[in-house]
Amino acid sequence: MKIWVYPGSFDPITNGHLDIIDRATKLCDKLIVAVLVNHSKNPVFTLDERVELLKCALKDKPKVEIESFSGLLVDFMKKKNASSIIKGLRAVSDFEYELQMALLNKNLDPEIETMFMMTNINYSFLSSSAVRELAKNGGNIDGLVPDCIKETILTKYKATGEVK
Ligand code: ADP
Repeated sequence: MKIWVYPGSFDPITNGHLDIIDRATKLCDKLIVAVLVNHSKNPVFTLDERVELLKCALKDKPKVEIESFSGLLVDFMKKKNASSIIKGLRAVSDFEYELQMALLNKNLDPEIETMFMMTNINYSFLSSSAVRELAKNGGNIDGLVPDCIKETILTKYKATGEVK
């Protein structure tokens, strides 16, 4: 059974992530969407909120599982019997960081492969931070995130009083 892991902060999930998930699930038997618990990005949405948004966005995808993890990705992969990491690449600016991560993980566990998928051109400009910035400033996020999570994202900023 080919088990792949798609790691990220998903703060929040966007249609760019969703596109990678849809394409990756065609190539593996199971895709674990793995949400980073601790990371330097200081997430706006709590872990529970990020998982809830993912659950809503991915509810009709039987091959997809949602998990959270802390610590080393390779340890999580071993625990889950996963063979490959899938990542999306948007611009050259993603490359340097992703190359370093892929080589570090290869060094930790030579059995694990990191695979890259080029962004869908329609989402090449899209990032979670762009969605957060739009939501915070009252911009339109239609078509950038799954419809079922749009209101939750906008409400989060209304609740914090951050919408300008
Ligand atoms: P972001 O970089 O938007 O904050 P994450 O840290 O959650 O998102 O990224 C998880 C993975 O998804 C990374 O491999 C990232 O390159 C990829 N990704 C994010 N947005 C896109 C997009 N628009 N197209 C393709 N891949 C993407």
